Amino acid sequence: MKSVVLVEAKKPLVIEEREIPTAEAGEEIIKVIACGVCHSDIHVADGHFGGPLPLVLGHEVVGEHPELGRVLVYAPWGCRKPDCRQCNAGLEMICANSHEAGVVDDGGYSEYMRVPSRDYLIPIGDLDPATTAPLACGGLTAFRAVKRTLPHLNVPNAKALIIGAGGLGQFAVQFMKKLANVELTVLDMADDKLDAATELGADHAVKELPAGVKYDAIIDFVGAKPTLEAAAGAVNRQGILVVVGLAGGRLEFGVGVIPSEAVLTTSIWGSLDELKELLEFVRTQGVNHLVETIPLDEAQEALDRLRRGEIRGRVVLTVA
Ligand SMILES: [Zn+2]
Ligand SMILES: [Zn+2]
Repeated sequence: MKSVVLVEAKKPLVIEEREIPTAEAGEEIIKVIACGVCHSDIHVADGHFGGPLPLVLGHEVVGEHPELGRVLVYAPWGCRKPDCRQCNAGLEMICANSHEAGVVDDGGYSEYMRVPSRDYLIPIGDLDPATTAPLACGGLTAFRAVKRTLPHLNVPNAKALIIGAGGLGQFAVQFMKKLANVELTVLDMADDKLDAATELGADHAVKELPAGVKYDAIIDFVGAKPTLEAAAGAVNRQGILVVVGLAGGRLEFGVGVIPSEAVLTTSIWGSLDELKELLEFVRTQGVNHLVETIPLDEAQEALDRLRRGEIRGRVVLTVA
C-alpha cells in the first residue's frame, strides 16, 4: 500500500510502499477514502509534539470497513484502563496515555490504516466522505468548545466572540448560531475568512474589537499572547473564555486581574459520544464547510499551503 510518511521532523514527507497492516485481536483495518489535513499535522511534522518517527500523519479519516461500510474514525484513543478516570468518563482525548492516530500511532495519510477497536468506527451512511472527514477533529474540536460555552449564553442579550475564522472558527460559527440565541462577533485579520464567517451566519465580522463591548463567551482558536490578552480584556464578568488554539500564548491570572468570576479554560478535541452527537447534528441540521480535495500523493503540498494560510476552509486528501 502507499503511505505518506514523516521520516524526520521538519523534512518533506516521503511516499513509501508498505505492507498492508494486519489486525491483531480487537483491532480493525480500514481502507482509507479521505483524510483531512489539520493544522496540528504541521506541529507534528515540525516535531513540536507526537510519537516516535517514522509516523504516518492524519487523524481526520473516513474509510471503508468490510462489514460496517463507510466509517468516520474517532482518533484520540485513550488507554482504556479501569483506573483511568478520563477514559472511564468517556473523555479519551484527555487521557494522560492517549495514543492518537496520526500523532502517536500511524494515521490516515495512507491507503490502509489500523484502528485499535471497532468502537472507534462510526458509520456515516450516505454522507460525503471528503466533507465528513474534517468533522473528526476540526468539527469535533469546535463542537466541544461551543458546547462548553452554552451554559454561559443562557442570559438575556447574550454576546459571543470567536477569534480566528479558519476551518475551526467556521465550524464554530455555525454550531453557535444553531445551538444558542446569541449575537455573534468573529475576529480575524483575513478578509476572505471574515467573508466566510459572515456567509456562515456571524452577525459581525471584524478586524478589531469594538471598544467597551463585553462577551459572555469567547472562543480563541488562535491562542497567541495578543489574542488571549484581547479575549481576557473582553470577557464579561462570570463569562467564559475557551482557548483552543495552539499558538502558545500565556495570560496573567488572578483576582482583580481577570474579570470577576470569569472562567478561563482550555478545550481539547472531543469525546466519542460528542462525535456521534455531531454526526447526528450534521445529518439533521446540516453543516456548511468549505472543503478542497487533493490527491494523497500531494500531502506535502497540502501541508505547505495550509502553513502559508492559503486554505480558506479545510483541505482533504483523497485516496483513489
Ligand atoms: Zn486513559
Ligand atoms: Zn486536528
